Amino acid sequence: MLMLEPLFACNLACEGCGRIREYAAMAHRQMPLEECLHAARECDAPVVSVCGGEPLLYRDLDRLVSGLLLQKRFIYLCTNGLLIPRWLDRLPRTKRLVWNVHLDGMETTHDAITGRPGTFREVTRAIRLAKEAGMRVTTNTTIYASMDMHEVIVLMEYLTELGVDGMLLSPAYSYECLQPATTSLPAAAGAVPFTPEGCAAKENDCATPLAPVEQRTKDTAIAREQSLFLTRSQVAEKFQSIKTELRRFRLINSPLYLDFLMGLRDLPCAAWASPTRNVCGWKSPCYLITDGHFATFREWQEKTPWQRLGPGRDPRCENCLVHYGFETGAVFAAQKSLRDSLSLAIWQFGR
Ligand code: SF4
Repeated sequence: MLMLEPLFACNLACEGCGRIREYAAMAHRQMPLEECLHAARECDAPVVSVCGGEPLLYRDLDRLVSGLLLQKRFIYLCTNGLLIPRWLDRLPRTKRLVWNVHLDGMETTHDAITGRPGTFREVTRAIRLAKEAGMRVTTNTTIYASMDMHEVIVLMEYLTELGVDGMLLSPAYSYECLQPATTSLPAAAGAVPFTPEGCAAKENDCATPLAPVEQRTKDTAIAREQSLFLTRSQVAEKFQSIKTELRRFRLINSPLYLDFLMGLRDLPCAAWASPTRNVCGWKSPCYLITDGHFATFREWQEKTPWQRLGPGRDPRCENCLVHYGFETGAVFAAQKSLRDSLSLAIWQFGR
């Protein structure tokens, strides 16, 4: 899966979101359309997750979607959902396009995390509209340290009533920029090192400056946000507490990845199977950690030091259970075991 981030600007400033903070200096820049389409051709991943930032703020979104569909990609539009009504009539109804809407709890919780009262109502209204318009809609819910797991079940029951096509649960992951002390490795040879002031990639001459996002005071936000994230054992405890209930819902998480989240099995990190491309280039090593950016996909693939990454190898990976790294790891693990392959096949065809 290609994680394509055509821009970093967002119309919200949610707690726990590292992107809008890590790349704040580049919030005004957007990748030109042709660069986005070229990135998809370059890595040739069957699935493109268009994220950011808020992708529905991307000026050429309709042309990007048609271009990716022409390339026969399967597209996930990862959005906070607020701008869905603006794009509903401008994007095609096809099974290859999925609106993946972020919802982090019921009304009080979600509005508190987004920092904007009324967000939950707006988003759930947008989901309803998208479903009525015949679109495919899935949701993505981040499980933070303070999350009451009973509320997660209530949320999933509500989303099932709304008719969503699938739900993803992911443990909150601490972006490197939200950790107290970052221990970045030197950028690999050929990569442009990353600094808080921005990447050294060329200025985007077709970028339209967007209104700066409203940001909470940085220090307070970082201190608060450090307390949002979970250790490996806390994640296991939270997911085990709802293990039996989860069977009732249309989960996007594979059974292998769920077992991994519950601490019942191990999986390898396969971050190399989910490259991230943004305005700075190919982000190395992965979606969460930024040591630098490469100009080409091939350089990213060949020069990122994969053997030095993953839990037990790099301290920054210690509590990482992110689905970009380990859901893909589940696919590779399944290839080595008939039982796991069967389990994945039953999950895949039983949905
Ligand atoms: S475990 Fe993999 S996905 Fe997670 S931070 Fe490390 S390299 Fe990135």
